[in-house]
Amino acid sequence: MADGIEPQPGILDIALYKGGASHLDGISNVLKLSSNENPLGASDAAKEAVVRASHDLHRYPPTDHSALRHAIAEVWGVDPDRVFCGVGSGEVLKLLAEAYAGPGDDVVFTEHGFSMYPIYAHASGANPVVVRENERVVDVDAILAACTDKTKLVFIANPANPTGTMIGHAEVARLADGLPPQALLVLDGAYAEYVDGFDAGKALVESRDNVVMSRTFSKIYGLGGLRVGWGYGPQAVIDVLNRIRGPFNLSSAALAGAEAAVRDTAHTEKCRIENARWRDWLANALAELGVPSDTSTANFILARFADAAEAQACDEHLRKAGIIVRQVAGYGLPQCLRITVGDESACRRVAHAVAQFKGAGK
Ligand SMILES: *Cc1c(COP(=O)(O)O)cnc(C)c1O
Repeated sequence: MADGIEPQPGILDIALYKGGASHLDGISNVLKLSSNENPLGASDAAKEAVVRASHDLHRYPPTDHSALRHAIAEVWGVDPDRVFCGVGSGEVLKLLAEAYAGPGDDVVFTEHGFSMYPIYAHASGANPVVVRENERVVDVDAILAACTDKTKLVFIANPANPTGTMIGHAEVARLADGLPPQALLVLDGAYAEYVDGFDAGKALVESRDNVVMSRTFSKIYGLGGLRVGWGYGPQAVIDVLNRIRGPFNLSSAALAGAEAAVRDTAHTEKCRIENARWRDWLANALAELGVPSDTSTANFILARFADAAEAQACDEHLRKAGIIVRQVAGYGLPQCLRITVGDESACRRVAHAVAQFKGAGK
């Protein structure tokens, strides 16, 4: 490469994101529980909408996402003019970092926060600032203490990944109210639909001018492969995001699939109920085997082992049994494994394999 050609500051500090593995050599019947995917898949209405969209693939998609924004607005009771649609919620979060943080600015998140937050901070040239949690729960006082006149963005996921824990409305409101005036609070609601009756921060967005929330079609809607997410925020922030996004960021198939998915509230409800049922079953089964976890509010549990060595040994045992879960040492949790809640047979298979592992270790 020619001397002197350099990327923007921060970019070479990024460690490549590692997705959940999906295959194991020599094993068929692999059970992938490493990426928090919906075991029930997407709604039939969404699949049919994607097929219908295939008849018009020679046409450019609409640039204003109007039909999808209005469907989201109807279902979630939000203002369609303040909804922004992106290529996964990842694009919403990345554009927020690009628009509001740069060299010399701080982007704040917590020690076990989602691994994309430091990537977005570095990609914008800003400094990532990592704040401690309190026993795997976001600590509002610690975040507020870390904020300065350089803080531009604060990212928290609520429920959080990979801990599965969440903080209540009053705590989130206290965080929003305590931030310095130039800082925007970003509430990542990737798992919000798993919490019955949770507004994901909608009321805070509507009552303040420093709060944005993001949501995704990748988790409860079972559309991770389609890449659609959305954000809801103050009009001024949404206007900024619309200026910097690509005009055709979402394909016509993605727009159609997501619109049908959000309208199929019966499917969403069924997925939420099934998930809660098998999540609690799995957490109890593992706890009885001596593998506790914090009460999860999402579609995974963070299983805690005695130490890093035991977590790794259990991961190896699970792999031999054809089960892929997520190692979370990179999140500062080497003694834990994050296990996506599958369907009934998946949960039984995990519990059986962990029981075998614990039995063999004695
Ligand atoms: C899965 C996940 C997302 C979703 O990313 P998409 O780009 O919408 O697929 C966002 N935030 C967190 C914390 C997640 O776990």
